[in-house]
Amino acid sequence: MTAIILFFTLHWFLSLFFHSFFLHRYASHQMYTAKPGWEKTFYFLTWFVQGSSFLVPRAYAVMHRMHHAYSDTEKDPHSPHFFKDIWHMMMHTARIFSGFVTGKDVPDPEFTREYLPVWDKLDKFGHNNITRGLFIAVYIGFYIFFAPSFWWYLLLPVHFFMGPIQGAIVNWFGHKLGYRNYKIEDHSKNTTPWGILLMGELFQNNHHKAKDNANFARKWFEIDLTFLIMRVMHTLRIIQLKPVHLQKKTSLPEKP
Ligand SMILES: [Zn+2]
Ligand SMILES: [Zn+2]
Repeated sequence: MTAIILFFTLHWFLSLFFHSFFLHRYASHQMYTAKPGWEKTFYFLTWFVQGSSFLVPRAYAVMHRMHHAYSDTEKDPHSPHFFKDIWHMMMHTARIFSGFVTGKDVPDPEFTREYLPVWDKLDKFGHNNITRGLFIAVYIGFYIFFAPSFWWYLLLPVHFFMGPIQGAIVNWFGHKLGYRNYKIEDHSKNTTPWGILLMGELFQNNHHKAKDNANFARKWFEIDLTFLIMRVMHTLRIIQLKPVHLQKKTSLPEKP
């Protein structure tokens, strides 16, 4: 049992960290710079920890930039306000994502103007049913070996679809439930303390107010774990946070 809990927790948080740190804060928003060797390392680790649910960074980033430009309007690729449930929103997002990955759909140049990390070989290898299937086989194998009873197998689908599940939780609840620090045009919200399980990503309202600020927390009780790790990585010179983000608080909450 301990092995399964450990495996699930590690997979959840490692996937989430690279989702937030690399796909979101680097590929989509360029909140920091990294030397090419480090960029490749983060890219590789994102693929490895997401495994069967690897999200190709360039497609993710384009889609996410669209989310900010059209937040909670009909052109938003995943606004919860246009779908009857989280499942339909996920399916719609998956269709847009897949169109960009395969090249069937060409994104508006506005969303490709900024730098996009691309590693063609790894994208092709990772976004491939055989590779995805192998990861799934490893997850199942681990459960066969360590799960004490059948009920634990119910966790397996979360491993299979880890990346999209975490994305859907953030996109659905982050634009539906919680409180707001800022009155802005979209429906973005902040959630705490549960937001801690999503490593800062559920502070959507703070993030939409200042999309280039690497720190998603504003108030004393808001903790952005990903950003705290990024500060350590900056100190160790693994990444270089863009100077504006070194400010502890970039803006004070506005009066509602
Ligand atoms: Zn959002
Ligand atoms: Zn964003």
